[in-house]
Amino acid sequence: MAELPHGIRRVTLSLPTRPGHVHAYLLPGEDGWIVVDTGVGLPDAKETWAAELEQAGGSVAAVFVTHFHPDHVGAAADLHELTGAPVYQGVLDYAQCELVWGNPLWSERLLEWFQLHGAPPEVTGELVGQSAVYRPFIRYQRDPLLLTAGERLDGWELIAAPGHADGQLCLLKDGVLIAADHLLGRITPTVGLWPASRPDPLADYLQALERTIELAPRLALPGHGDPIEEPVARARELQEHHRLRLEEAAAALDTTPKTAYELSFALFGAELNPAGRRFAIAETLSHLERLVHEGAARRHEASGVVAYTAA
Ligand SMILES: [Zn+2]
Repeated sequence: MAELPHGIRRVTLSLPTRPGHVHAYLLPGEDGWIVVDTGVGLPDAKETWAAELEQAGGSVAAVFVTHFHPDHVGAAADLHELTGAPVYQGVLDYAQCELVWGNPLWSERLLEWFQLHGAPPEVTGELVGQSAVYRPFIRYQRDPLLLTAGERLDGWELIAAPGHADGQLCLLKDGVLIAADHLLGRITPTVGLWPASRPDPLADYLQALERTIELAPRLALPGHGDPIEEPVARARELQEHHRLRLEEAAAALDTTPKTAYELSFALFGAELNPAGRRFAIAETLSHLERLVHEGAARRHEASGVVAYTAA
């Protein structure tokens, strides 16, 4: 456990896959700690949290989930059972959480999605299988208390940060942003288009970065990696990263229709494992759809396959 400014504590939980860890944060509140994010609900999650909370001392007043990805939501029910504290989650985020983790047919839907975007049948199984690794360890809290951006939780303002996840919420108080996966220091947060996600997640993300620049936090505490000492500069870097990526995506298009699967090789290389390819396809799609919305690309659908050309 690390001690940070403003009495905040950071709990680092290990993950079985990259990036190998996730940070949860304990925020000092009126009636006890607000625990932000939970890690994955692995068999030892309760034990790990019991030890961390004993070290922190005091009681837990609330558990807050920033977004429904396994490493953030996965042990929410464990924390609730351990502490009795209510679990809070964003309205939109909880709807997606149910849609993905509460739906036994989600894998089928994902399989169709990758086929629609050009993945050959022999690889779709691997692409989807990888995403099922965490499924047994996602112990999200059913019927949490729902919140929306603009509301407050014990003095912390909830900030909408869509892009990486449509319904992601960050927390802001006294210039400190609990950033989850909206801003990361060394790695770039993934911004993918998935089944049932908003139509143009990259536009959402670029706008959310703009809002971060306006809010001008002095410190951002991310879900992975070190604290970000210059969050505004980092938000600008991430905008620039995507501007360059959009140029690359546009340059990869011509008059021959190409699928997101094919283009993911041009944009992210050939040397990716199935997990990497899965994110590469989703991220390629978010860039292609941004180009379509900008009028720089066209989407075509024929024989159950979506492909893109230059406009
Ligand atoms: Zn995430």
